[in-house]
Amino acid sequence: MLVSAKEMLDKAKAGHYAVGQFNINNLEWTKAVLQAAEEKKSPVILGVSEGAGKYMTGYKTVVGMVNGMMEELGITVPVALHLDHGSYEGCKACIEAGFSSVMFDGSHYPIEENVAKTTELVAITKEKGMSIEAEVGSIGGEEDGVVGKGECADPKECKAIADLGVDMLAAGIGNIHGKYPANWEGLSFETLDAVQQLTGTMPLVLHGGTGIPADMIKKAITLGVAKINVNTECQLSFADATRKYIEAGKDLEGKGFDPRKLLAPGTEAIKATVIEKMELFGSIGKAE
Ligand SMILES: [Zn+2]
Repeated sequence: MLVSAKEMLDKAKAGHYAVGQFNINNLEWTKAVLQAAEEKKSPVILGVSEGAGKYMTGYKTVVGMVNGMMEELGITVPVALHLDHGSYEGCKACIEAGFSSVMFDGSHYPIEENVAKTTELVAITKEKGMSIEAEVGSIGGEEDGVVGKGECADPKECKAIADLGVDMLAAGIGNIHGKYPANWEGLSFETLDAVQQLTGTMPLVLHGGTGIPADMIKKAITLGVAKINVNTECQLSFADATRKYIEAGKDLEGKGFDPRKLLAPGTEAIKATVIEKMELFGSIGKAE
């Protein structure tokens, strides 16, 4: 059964490790992430962007697939199904469809409107036993066609949003989505430290986990990051393994064109990437 992300993140923050959010795109992605989590006894968050939700034909399909797969695979570790960068309308649709967690990305609204909408969604999610993530300071990179650079959030705004009763908070600390440019300045630990000073035990969320050096990830965890989002890296692993299979001509050998064979190396590659991240984040064995 799906659970809210609150308990697993509070435990992670207290235990100085982070839980990975791995975005899913289809059945293979979901299977790879769930199998990795179960095998390594790690709590996990399945992230679904609005675009991926649409691709999978809608949120109800996602909920049905994830719930069914968890039962069929006998998953025992805590799993949260979380809307990533949700709009106000998207959050409401996911609450209705049976997600266990949502992120309301109100970072593009003026702070007053972000506060008003977040307050309303906090009340609804609390009543349903779901968790909610809020974002302060926009996180750069390309997300659904919007390109930005790594901004730093205002710690006072973070405190104001945290006080609304959200369960986790994403603050921009120079991180960006997608691949990092060669001239990237790195994470702003001063900002992260200032945010944690003001928000206390609130689990902080690091978006754009792909390509941040391991030592920066580890330092961010010591400064209160308890959830790290990984998306692009699994996509790159999948594409790389699939390309190798095709380039080696394996789809032309015997029944190598069978999708169950064609997609197998990519699926295994996602699983390997997820396990590698769980090791780095320190979440392995935390669901035992
Ligand atoms: Zn993000």
